Amino acid sequence: MPTTTTAPTATTTTASPATAKGAKPRKPLPAPNSDFYYLYETLPAEELAVVKRVREFMETKVAPVITDYWVRDAFPFDLLPAVKELGIGGVGMKGYGCAGGSLALLGFIQMEIARVDPSFSTFVGVHNGLAMGSIYIDGSEEQKQKWLPPMARFDKIGCFGLTEPLVGSGASGGLLTTAKRDGDTWILNGEKRWIGNAPWCDISIIWARDVADNQVKGFIVENKTTPGFSVDKIENKVALKVVQNGHITLKDCRVPEENRLQGGNSFRDTAKVLKMTRYAVAWMSTGCAMGAYEAALKYSQERLQFGRPIGSFQLIQDLLARMIENITASQCLIVRQAQLYAEGKLSDAHAALSKAFCTSKCRETVAWAREILGGNGIVADYQVARFFNDCEALYTYEGTFQMQNLIVGKAVTGLSAFL
Ligand SMILES: Cc1cc2nc3c(=O)[nH]c(=O)nc-3n(C[C@H](O)[C@H](O)[C@H](O)COP(=O)(O)OP(=O)(O)OC[C@H]3O[C@@H](n4cnc5c(N)ncnc54)[C@H](O)[C@@H]3O)c2cc1C
Repeated sequence: MPTTTTAPTATTTTASPATAKGAKPRKPLPAPNSDFYYLYETLPAEELAVVKRVREFMETKVAPVITDYWVRDAFPFDLLPAVKELGIGGVGMKGYGCAGGSLALLGFIQMEIARVDPSFSTFVGVHNGLAMGSIYIDGSEEQKQKWLPPMARFDKIGCFGLTEPLVGSGASGGLLTTAKRDGDTWILNGEKRWIGNAPWCDISIIWARDVADNQVKGFIVENKTTPGFSVDKIENKVALKVVQNGHITLKDCRVPEENRLQGGNSFRDTAKVLKMTRYAVAWMSTGCAMGAYEAALKYSQERLQFGRPIGSFQLIQDLLARMIENITASQCLIVRQAQLYAEGKLSDAHAALSKAFCTSKCRETVAWAREILGGNGIVADYQVARFFNDCEALYTYEGTFQMQNLIVGKAVTGLSAFL
């Protein structure tokens, strides 16, 4: 059994409204806490200490400012120095200057970040999981030694370009972006859409179809020094507004053979990366639901109607109970998911099931949170609207709900519904 210490539960209690008004003193109400089954206690003490550090950073540095950035579609670059200090770059990966730790630690960190801001957890997930993960899983020893240390320090930031304007769910079979070998270089042509961090980051992992063998291959493209590489920021999003998503154009971009991911020789190798990031999105969506639940619960303790806190009404309690049930079921699932990984048993279908279940339960949960806030549920200042909107992107990216269910469907029937 791992050594445990106290989990990072909320430390303050909410004074009952009657007490706050100076009326008859009442027992303080419990502070919102979304760890109902004490799942944080499953972490060993040294990993729990990291999660607590992340919680403190998110609550003291990110929470006070993030809604303003979200409303303005802006990324908080001034927080990056503090992110570097957190020591979470390359969490779950061993060597190459990475933070190491278990996959459970990676999950708890992503959940913790999303509990305050799903955009921030997406920024970390794209950099850590998709970009670093591609190099860690599919790169050669030399590529890992060159790229992972500066990325683990957040000195170089990465993105991951798979989706295209005309190819989303069908990426496994039909990428239109091409790679053509020419001596010691490759020539890339095509477009990538929705790529998180792309408008400002340093390197892009670009997945393209080799015209010689029709297989998907991965390339490390240096954004700022590769002629023909350009990015337009996608404007007017209504979810994950802090994340800067880009539309990348590659026009006769020359990439040296040494920047081709040496272990990325077919879509199967891309899918190895996606399995791990779907694993992480299940944690992130659980964190998103936790943030919305805690905000709605606090609101229900403070908001008075008919002279009483709305949290005292049976129908509101029913919603809150359903929310913590969804969250607890998701948490139990993802903790088991981490155990499966540690036992070497996590399959694509396991990760797909977690991603589908947790994002769909998150979607229900954030909608109930929005409902509990009444009109204030659609105002960004009350936090819940941000979680409500952001969940929509978590539900869709890294493969939609339908695609995850088709992966699970193939595993349980033995029959593929897609190519
Ligand atoms: C905020 C955000 C960030 C993103 N970040 C990245 C990123 O960093 N890098 C990257 O490469 N991509 C990224 N994506 C892209 C994301 O992975 C895709 O949006 C997703 O895979 C779905 O593709 P699509 O949007 O083209 O939808 P489509 O594939 O066009 O699907 C449209 C609808 O059809 C359904 N559908 C499709 N095929 C089937 C089928 N066979 N059976 C049943 N239903 C089907 C889908 O489930 C969906 O409901 C991001 C997307 C968003 C919204």
